[in-house]
Amino acid sequence: MKAAVTMLLWWVLALAGATAFAQSSPSRAERLNIAGKGYVRLSVWARANNFEIRSVKKDEIAQLTKGASRLVFTADSKQAQINGINVDLLFPILARNGGPYIAQLDLQTTLHPLLFPPKNNAGSKVRTVCLDPGHGGKQTGTLDGSKQEKKYTLLLAQELRDQLVRAGLRVTLTRTTDTLIDLPVRTDLARRRGADLFVSLHFNGASSSKNEVKGIEVYCLTPSGASSTNARGEGAGAGPMPGNRNNEKNMFLAYQVHKSLVKSLPTEDRGVRRARFAVLREAQMPAVLIEGGYMSHPSESKKIYDPVYRREMAHAIVDGLLAYKRQVETGD
Ligand SMILES: [Zn+2]
Repeated sequence: MKAAVTMLLWWVLALAGATAFAQSSPSRAERLNIAGKGYVRLSVWARANNFEIRSVKKDEIAQLTKGASRLVFTADSKQAQINGINVDLLFPILARNGGPYIAQLDLQTTLHPLLFPPKNNAGSKVRTVCLDPGHGGKQTGTLDGSKQEKKYTLLLAQELRDQLVRAGLRVTLTRTTDTLIDLPVRTDLARRRGADLFVSLHFNGASSSKNEVKGIEVYCLTPSGASSTNARGEGAGAGPMPGNRNNEKNMFLAYQVHKSLVKSLPTEDRGVRRARFAVLREAQMPAVLIEGGYMSHPSESKKIYDPVYRREMAHAIVDGLLAYKRQVETGD
């Protein structure tokens, strides 16, 4: 804690002096290589993209603004806020040479897809969504007494299917009954059915000592060359995978869905995250995995079991998918 306060003070001083320093030593490193990772000085990136570092307060260290856009970065932390939504960076923001540095890979795969949304090829529309209700059959997923995650992921998927069809989209499900479908089969089904998006649905569980944890997380695939937020041992290798072809769209999709969920549901924003979950690794189309709340939390679990709440959750997911569709589609 003391270290954090010292760091904060140091940053305040460093940022206060940044202008004078920039003028007196224009050669101050714009790029660094730390532990094999390329880092870029945040103020240099900000200037090049017409953002200004406007204020420093509490533990919000660097706040970049341009019009309505507001980015908040914290020293030694991977947690960023992009227009009020929590997004986990791949690498922590580093303090060097009197200022914050951001990893080049985060600029490419985290910030740029959100600030300059990727576009589909002309005329390429988002028409078919593959919904993937997590678990099934003998694989129950999270357990809360007699409540099994696999049942609620399927109920959510069915509600979501109905709402997406009403919104004019085609929908296919990886399972419609209580059966176990192998993970590679799920993404293969999506590909063979011509899905344009893949959306895996899960509910979370924390260990019994952590039953105060609640909130929503939306995952997309970790880019090659970075470690995962939470991969539970899956896919520890960092080489490129099929899903990495869609790094930019994966992030933009995850952000749109997550934003819609945390803005419309009374829950906590646990952030857009990266992981190498099998379905994200193998998906041939932009893909996300939604952890729609904690079955281990006393009150959040009751909501998850409530069809009215799941309808609201489905509605928020539909809005997020439609926001993505609107922004990636170009004219014919
Ligand atoms: Zn699950």
